[in-house]
Amino acid sequence: MFIFAQTQLLQMNYFSSDFKLGILGGGQLGKMLLTENRKFDIQTLVLDPSEEAPARYSCNAFYRGSLMDYDTVYQFGKMVNLLTIEIENVNLDALDKLEEEGLVIFPSPKTLRLIQNKGRQKDFYVEHNIPTAPHQRFVDLNDLRKSLEKDELEFPFVWKCAQFGYDGNGVKIVRSASDLNNLPDVECIAEQIVPYKNELAVIVARSVSGEVKTYPVVGMEFHPEANQVEYVICPARIDEKVAQKATEIALNVSEAYNHVGLLAVELFQTEDDEILVNEVAPRPHNSGHYSIEASYTSQFENHLRSILNLPLGNTASKVAGIMVNLVGAEGFSGPVVYENIEKIMAIDGVTPHIYGKRETRPFRKMGHVTIVNENMTEARRVAEEVKNSIRVISVQ
Ligand code: ADP
Repeated sequence: MFIFAQTQLLQMNYFSSDFKLGILGGGQLGKMLLTENRKFDIQTLVLDPSEEAPARYSCNAFYRGSLMDYDTVYQFGKMVNLLTIEIENVNLDALDKLEEEGLVIFPSPKTLRLIQNKGRQKDFYVEHNIPTAPHQRFVDLNDLRKSLEKDELEFPFVWKCAQFGYDGNGVKIVRSASDLNNLPDVECIAEQIVPYKNELAVIVARSVSGEVKTYPVVGMEFHPEANQVEYVICPARIDEKVAQKATEIALNVSEAYNHVGLLAVELFQTEDDEILVNEVAPRPHNSGHYSIEASYTSQFENHLRSILNLPLGNTASKVAGIMVNLVGAEGFSGPVVYENIEKIMAIDGVTPHIYGKRETRPFRKMGHVTIVNENMTEARRVAEEVKNSIRVISVQ
C-alpha cells in the first residue's frame, strides 16, 4: 500500500498548483497546521462542524459538516487529492471507502481504527510487546461491576471510557464502589494505576518512504483538578538513559503502526525508571506546540513533510522551550478576554497563540504561550511568571 501511495504522491506537484490537501477537523491544530502550510502554498480544504472553527480563515475553502457523518466525510474526500486529520474521531467507514477508491489518507484508516478505541489501542500494545500498564476491557459499566463481583477486578484502578474521551474528561481514578455511581454507562477499560514520577511524550515523524525523525523527549506537568497539561517542557529534565529508552519505545510504537505522519507517544516514567506507553495521538499534539518557536522545524511542518513524502526537517531544538496552556479560568463563561496579555508579551521570548474561540468556559483550551530561552532555569522561571499573570476570563 505504501509503495503505491508513494509513487502516486511523487507524481504530484504540490506547490502553487491545483493539488488539494483535505483536513478533517478545523480546531487549533488545524489552524497551526495551516499557518505552516502557507510557507508551501498548498491548497487546503477543511471540514469542521463549527461555523467558528479556528482553522476556517486560514484554508482555501471551508466546509461545515459533521466529521462523524458518512456522506459528509465521503463527499469531502472526493474533492481532495490527499486527506489528513487533526482529530481522530472521524467516520472511518467513509475513509475506508475513499481509500478503496484510491484516495491517499494519512494516517491510514486502519491505524485510526486501532487508535480510536482505547481498549483496542491497549490490546495492540500487548500484542506487539510494547510496555503498557495492565488493563481489562468492558462493554459497559455493568460488565465492569460483574467483574468486580467475581473478584476479577480490584479497587483501586483507573477507569477510562473507550471512545470519545479527551483532555482527561473520560478518565477517573476509582477507589471504591461509590465512585462507580458517577461514571457514564459506556464501553470502558480498567487500567492499573501507574506510580509514575514523570509524564513524558515523544513525537515521531515518519514519512511515506519510511524516513523517521524524533523530537526530543518532553516532560508534562498537569493541573491537579482539570487533568489538563499545564506546562510542557523541552527537553524534559530527565536522565539521558531514560530519554533514550523513551525515544526507542516511541520509535517501536510508530513502526508497529506502520505510521505515516506525526505520532505523539505519551509515556509514563515509573518510580523505578521503566517506561510505559499511556496512549498515542496520530497527529500534531499539544506536547509539540513549543516546536513552533523552539525547534528548527515545527511539528506541523514535519507533519506536512511526512504525509507529502518530502524530506523531513531538523527536529532538534534551537533553545529551551516551555509551553503553558491557556485554559478558561473557573467561574467565567462568555466572550473571552485575555487579561494581562500585554504584560507577558513584554517579557523576552514569550509568544502567545490565541486559537480564535470567542467564548471561554472553565478549563476550555483557548490558546497557549510559548516561552523560549537559552537557559532552561530562566525559561522555567518565566513560564511561572506567565502562568501567574495571564488569565482567560470573560467580560461579564
Ligand atoms: P486523555 O485521552 O483524556 O488525555 P489519558 O489516558 O492521557 O486521557 O489520561 C489522562 C491523565 O490521567 C494522564 O495524563 C495521567 O495523568 C492520568 N492517568 C492515565 N492513566 C493512568 C494510569 N494508568 N495511572 C495513573 N495515572 C493515569
